[in-house]
Amino acid sequence: MITEQMKSILEAIKEYKNIAIFRHKRPDGDAVGSTKGLCEILRLTYPEKDVRLLNCDYAEYTSFLGGEDSEADDEFYKNALGIVIDTGTSDRISNPKYKLCPKLVKIDHHINVEPYGDIVWVEEHRSSASEMIAELYHSFSDEWKINVTAATCIYTGMVTDSGRFRFSSVSGDTLRLAGMLLDVGVDTEVLFARLYMKGFNTFKFQSYVYKKMKITENGVAYLYVDKGMQKKFALSSEEASACVSYMDSIKDSLIWIAFIEGSDKTVRVRLRSRFVTVNEIAQRYHGGGHACASGATVYSKKEMKALIAEADKALKEYKETHEGWL
Ligand code: AMP
Repeated sequence: MITEQMKSILEAIKEYKNIAIFRHKRPDGDAVGSTKGLCEILRLTYPEKDVRLLNCDYAEYTSFLGGEDSEADDEFYKNALGIVIDTGTSDRISNPKYKLCPKLVKIDHHINVEPYGDIVWVEEHRSSASEMIAELYHSFSDEWKINVTAATCIYTGMVTDSGRFRFSSVSGDTLRLAGMLLDVGVDTEVLFARLYMKGFNTFKFQSYVYKKMKITENGVAYLYVDKGMQKKFALSSEEASACVSYMDSIKDSLIWIAFIEGSDKTVRVRLRSRFVTVNEIAQRYHGGGHACASGATVYSKKEMKALIAEADKALKEYKETHEGWL
């Protein structure tokens, strides 16, 4: 269904010659895939426009999709439509220069705690922001063009943010839109190999993780990955952070958490759950995100213990008040 916001986005795109596309800091597959995908579609459709991806950090994990960023001076921003994708709050936008743009569009699927921007298109039920870009393309496909590069980027975002189409946010529309992208010619065999083949060291790290992980009384599985561990297995912080997924299918453990020590001594928290809502816990620890996948930061062991205790309490309450969760 074409919403009023989608129509306004199309009008704004047509109105501006310069378009600046932004995403969140510490990007994941969805942030990179959705922004690169839209950028490619707009460049193909409107060759006369100057469309640039303008972000201040980079993800090794999705580097196979090609280079991301362009450069721009302040004049460019001052005359550009800014489009921010996959970013719930303005403090998480990778490039602070988005503030120079005279008009700003927010396209997102996170809980809309801050509806920043002039046009806000947020659909919290969507499995990824990339799914929304696929929907946007589908809605305007009479005038918009797509190619394999754009389709691959968008498909990558859909695959990664939906846990390979397993999460409950995946709907019939998700799969129909994914099918549309496959018809453009995405090579899924190569894509899945790029996304999910892991280095030998990562497997060694995985076995270490299984030895080290702990579980609370009510079933919260958690793991602390300090700098020493990352060094021992020669892992980047991105690779170390992936350990949260190693704990994702422990029976009875409906919440699992990875704590990853950063170089500045702060600790990145990755919270995941089945059925139980965890984003409210994340919000109390300088974070946020989705009901069942959130991120936060803790600054001490004391704060880490307090967060684990809150998660344990939430899980206890959930199990006491719900039947048949497994
Ligand atoms: P992560 O564990 O970093 O993959 O984050 C899981 C989800 O929570 C993603 O959708 C992130 O965009 C979101 N998220 C992570 N950190 C924060 C934060 N500090 N504030 C708001 N949302 C966050």
